[in-house]
Amino acid sequence: MSSHTFIPFRRHLENGGAKGVLRDRVEYVGGANPGDGEYVVYWAQSSRRLRSNIALDYAISRANAEGLPVVVYESLRPDYSSANDRIHSFVLEGVVANHHDALKRGLRYLFYLPRTRDEARGALGRIASRARLVVTDEFPTFSLREQTRSFASTSPCPVFTVDGNGILPMRVFGKEQYGATQLRDRAFRLFADRWDEPPELMPKYGPFESELDVPNYNGANPRANAASCAIDHSVMAVPSIGGRDEALRRLDRFVREKLCGYAGHRSREADHTSELSPYLHFGFLSVHEVARRALFSSAPEEDIDAFLEQLIIRRELSFNLCFYREDHASLDCLPDWAKKTLAEHADDRRQPLYSWDALERAATEDEVWNLAQRGLLRLGTIHNYLRMLWGKKVIEWSRTTDEAHAFMLAMHDKYAIDGRDPNTHAGVLWCFGKHDRPWRERPIFGKVRYLASESTKRKIDLEAYARRIDTLTF
Ligand SMILES: Cc1cc2nc3c(=O)[nH]c(=O)nc-3n(C[C@H](O)[C@H](O)[C@H](O)COP(=O)(O)OP(=O)(O)OC[C@H]3O[C@@H](n4cnc5c(N)ncnc54)[C@H](O)[C@@H]3O)c2cc1C
Repeated sequence: MSSHTFIPFRRHLENGGAKGVLRDRVEYVGGANPGDGEYVVYWAQSSRRLRSNIALDYAISRANAEGLPVVVYESLRPDYSSANDRIHSFVLEGVVANHHDALKRGLRYLFYLPRTRDEARGALGRIASRARLVVTDEFPTFSLREQTRSFASTSPCPVFTVDGNGILPMRVFGKEQYGATQLRDRAFRLFADRWDEPPELMPKYGPFESELDVPNYNGANPRANAASCAIDHSVMAVPSIGGRDEALRRLDRFVREKLCGYAGHRSREADHTSELSPYLHFGFLSVHEVARRALFSSAPEEDIDAFLEQLIIRRELSFNLCFYREDHASLDCLPDWAKKTLAEHADDRRQPLYSWDALERAATEDEVWNLAQRGLLRLGTIHNYLRMLWGKKVIEWSRTTDEAHAFMLAMHDKYAIDGRDPNTHAGVLWCFGKHDRPWRERPIFGKVRYLASESTKRKIDLEAYARRIDTLTF
């Protein structure tokens, strides 16, 4: 256990935090020289919220300086791989709250919901053609990075990205950090100079009232609207609701009811963690506001520290990995010892071997694993502790490590509402030795850490988890 504690940062934040939340966060990515422009666009891609949002604050500060209003543009394309009812519903459930927050902050907010690939084409370009500049979120993985670069390469106005992902900007580390210890030591040296909070600036001009050349979706009937899009309808919506209002309710409930005891219960009980990962992934909440709520709660200090270790250190380690390693979606980014040991055991006998189909349907002979997979199919997330076993078993039951890795990412893409995240890549790679150390050598895994279903069974209340999955109503 680390000797670092977050508790002293209460005083730091009470005293106003560090100054200059934007340092090392803003980057120009392309686009034509600025023309006149009627407004500044904030294109919300990964931070789907209008509060506690550093990128939006940057857009407002630029607009205020230029004497212009801000137009917030949010959209959800139907044509990326794995677009399905589950993800569409979860995102669309956040639209009403954003309309409300826009009204409160004096911002024009437009959510565009294209039903088909053809409808999706060109909408942002039309909005940008009347803009002085576009500000958007920097997110180090999935298609967002490519989507931003591609738009910027032909944008009629300059495009800037803002990294609002973590308490620390990703660039502050300068290079890949090889594990939690290294990142934690540096992070604790940097917090005093860097931990600042989004100022929630108010726009001085606007809201922009004129018509925009893109239809607006007002947030009504999200699930029916998802059903009307040309996406994969075989992956159903999950029982939990998406959006900022629900995210704030969950945060509040977690801090009041479960943060106390988090350090001891995190790995065991089915629902003792925050279950905020889908809400953080879609940016319905910022890490800054979650950290603040935990830090100023009345929970015991050891619980606050244990939670912030996950929320800040582990999460920012994942962002660091994806930011500095373009190859984060492959096993090439494993440490040398892990690559070597897995290669040495590549020809070890694997028994049983399961097809993708059997794994996907949760039809193995291992009831613990099946339960984890059923959780993913039905809830859209895997139990916090079972995630590790889930990944390790796939390695054991696949013909090759590459096949196991591809299966895990494909399952997250298709079913996980917190998938396609830096944490997805880091979590999956951890199963192959990333951010870990060598352990005792054994078949298939070599020196990569092994987990057995039997020991997992003893650690968590599987019956409670099974009841939870099986009594879900949709
Ligand atoms: C095989 C495997 C796959 C994973 N896939 C994902 C994924 O798709 N999406 C995802 O967000 N996390 C993933 N994780 C990391 C971690 O298991 C989840 O973040 C955590 O279980 C989410 O539950 P929670 O929100 O209740 O966590 P809490 O314990 O309440 O933690 C709060 C937040 O801290 C962050 N966090 C917690 N644990 C970790 C961790 N080990 N690494 C990085 N950040 C962490 C998350 O943002 C989380 O929401 C994966 C881990 C493994 C081993």
